[in-house]
Amino acid sequence: MIKITLPDGAVKEVEKGTTPFSVAQSISEGLARNVISAKFNDTTVETTTPLTTDGSLTLYTWNDDEGKKAFWHSTSHVVAQALEELYPGIKLTIGPAIENGFYYDVDFGEQGISEKDFPSIEKKALEIARGKHDYHMRSVSKQEALSYYKEQGNEYKVELIENLEDGTITFCDHSTFTDLCRGGHIPNTGIIKAIKLLSVAGAYWRGDEKNTQLTRVYGISFPKQKELTEYLQLLEEAKKRDHRKLGKELELFTFSQKVGQGLPLWLPNGAALRERLEQFLKKAQKKAGYEMVVTPHIGQKELYVTSGHYAKYGEDSFQPIRTPKEDEEFLLKPMNCPHHCEIYNSHPFSYKDLPKRYAEFGTVYRYEQSGELHGLTRVRGFTQDDAHIFCTTEQLNDEFKNVIDLTLYVLNSLGFDNFTAQVSVRDLENPDKYIGNTDDWEKAEQAIINAAEEKGLNYVIESGEAAFYGPKLDFMIKDALGRNWQLGTIQVDYNLPKRFDLTYKGSDNEMHRPVMIHRAPFGSMERFVALLLEHTGGNFPLWLIPIQAIVLPVSEKHEKYAEKVLNSLENHEIRALIDKRNETVGKKIREAELKKIPFMIIVGEQEEESATISVRRHGGEDLGSLNVDAFSDLVTTEINSTLKSF
Ligand SMILES: [Zn+2]
Ligand SMILES: [Zn+2]
Repeated sequence: MIKITLPDGAVKEVEKGTTPFSVAQSISEGLARNVISAKFNDTTVETTTPLTTDGSLTLYTWNDDEGKKAFWHSTSHVVAQALEELYPGIKLTIGPAIENGFYYDVDFGEQGISEKDFPSIEKKALEIARGKHDYHMRSVSKQEALSYYKEQGNEYKVELIENLEDGTITFCDHSTFTDLCRGGHIPNTGIIKAIKLLSVAGAYWRGDEKNTQLTRVYGISFPKQKELTEYLQLLEEAKKRDHRKLGKELELFTFSQKVGQGLPLWLPNGAALRERLEQFLKKAQKKAGYEMVVTPHIGQKELYVTSGHYAKYGEDSFQPIRTPKEDEEFLLKPMNCPHHCEIYNSHPFSYKDLPKRYAEFGTVYRYEQSGELHGLTRVRGFTQDDAHIFCTTEQLNDEFKNVIDLTLYVLNSLGFDNFTAQVSVRDLENPDKYIGNTDDWEKAEQAIINAAEEKGLNYVIESGEAAFYGPKLDFMIKDALGRNWQLGTIQVDYNLPKRFDLTYKGSDNEMHRPVMIHRAPFGSMERFVALLLEHTGGNFPLWLIPIQAIVLPVSEKHEKYAEKVLNSLENHEIRALIDKRNETVGKKIREAELKKIPFMIIVGEQEEESATISVRRHGGEDLGSLNVDAFSDLVTTEINSTLKSF
């Protein structure tokens, strides 16, 4: 007999060789019907894997992330089989599950596929799925595995197998199909009721540009057709909200191949938007005791050797810039922290001076492969709303709480109310992975947990997710479509203060090392604006939106009055434009709607006579006729309802 511990702590004594499926059955028939994957002692197993030792077992259904992962990965096998049957001679490489669905990387050789081919592939894959084939894992020797794929001439699988250790290699069979696979499958293909291929893209073998370019086929699958339909509707909506599309329509930013890929160019509307976001944060930061600093875009290579960034990222990033004569080497700044450490170092501090809080909207440059670049979310140059706080260990708890307050203020002012926080702590079983002493780590982790607790955050603790230099708190945002975005983090750091030999004089007159907090509530301006665009669909909060109102004269005759109205709006600090084109008001309204301008101000005969304006809201609501003062009050009230002061 063996002892199986379930997540609720219950222990079941079962016969050696019992499968996760049987354990599910012994709990309830309902669970047994729905269980599609399992984890045993932190390893993903099949529901049919015999359990032979004591251990802890978690059972997963479609409602669990792990269940979905098994479902989607299992579908990738089915799609691969369909592809092999439809395109004989192709070479399969890898087919993992991803956040939403799965992909399979395939070398199609001389053949090629496009979206036109999707329906026939989906049809084939569904046919296979309906066959209700069981997934069977089997161990193979390295020799056997190699000769299987050598015979097929699949050099990719051969390369994968060569890097595996004999005795650990498994194949997965279903129907007539076999794949090299570590496991993690649903019981059988019959559970897959809906399969949709979503896109094809190029992908280098092993992500290396020097290797062959493969075709990556993306897809998703569901246990119910209805769920697929809902998902596709969501995708449609996401397409409409794609920040790259909205960024163009709202004239916020652009890219130029001449300037270089991954380097956003902010247009006047976008620059003004950024400026407002910066002013908003600067104002709050000033109240929170931050001081602004400015540092250059490059730094000596030595600076990053000292910080450790060069050892970690130097080889795979932008290469050093050299001076023509002195043979000095500089790097594009990948992080602002080393510069801020040197600012701290420029002045001797005593414990009474701490905390020091240095903030900078610092632009940094990081190399990303061209295939990884994506709109404003994956770029090569971006501006962090960065700050570094240098404090004593005793101050850590309060400082952390202050940073949480500031982050919550930022999120609330921008209409994000659905978020969770993750506290990332050490892996206690691998203490060697971390620097700094245990005492400090304990204090820091406790400080973060206490702060999260005291601030009433909805948080989870993830062990083993801390950075090697300290624990951290990450904010995960759910946007309007329920998608997760990772935003800024708050990190505690013992490493850099040591590397830069930062000190302060304590009350005991001895020199001590400060603790450093890195934080960026937005993460980066680029990523944040992208998130805001996708979350709001371009309907930014009124305080932030570039143009708040547009004046639409009914005809040329009313231009003079329209200008007077504009002037008066500007005097009330309302950001407004005038549309003087010789077009109908109807057309002007439609275009203003597309530009997501919150208020349309129509002026004609009647308005001019009564010295009023007719106001129409974005979306169509008629606010009737008002005078400019009353309209301005309305705008102010609305702004104050979302933008409280910090
Ligand atoms: Zn598999
Ligand atoms: Zn930093």
